[in-house]
Amino acid sequence: MYVTLHGAIGASLALAVVPENIPAAFFLGWASHYLADAIPHGDEFDESRLPNRQAYLKRMLRWGGGDLALLTMLAGIWVWLHGWSWLVFLAAFGAILPDLLWGFEALINRKFLGPLGKFHSWIHNPLDIRLPLWFGLAFQAVAAALLWGRLLWLA
Ligand SMILES: [Zn+2]
Repeated sequence: MYVTLHGAIGASLALAVVPENIPAAFFLGWASHYLADAIPHGDEFDESRLPNRQAYLKRMLRWGGGDLALLTMLAGIWVWLHGWSWLVFLAAFGAILPDLLWGFEALINRKFLGPLGKFHSWIHNPLDIRLPLWFGLAFQAVAAALLWGRLLWLA
């Protein structure tokens, strides 16, 4: 699942559930990552289709970088509209942290997350329901647009 959506889920949940508690916002955002990943979302990418590690890293950096840039831009607009909020920042950061760590592991080619990394892999669509990529991307785009629309104009 794209971090643009993870960040919106974490921030929305924190504002709705723990609007005054910054540490709880971080942990709620972090927990929301795993719950959201458990929902089939169409971009559970099969690495075995790529020819090698270089191709995999290139793909990850291109898509992940674009995704992170989009999240940063939306967060910037949020700050411009509403002012800085540690609660929103840490909720969104907690919500994307598992993927940042996973990406860093892939980048340095060294597993350091132990059981947490295994849990992240396991919770990622545990029922193995394969949605077509186009459907998953459309579903995520609509969900992200709704949540970001709400965050930007209502929160
Ligand atoms: Zn994830």
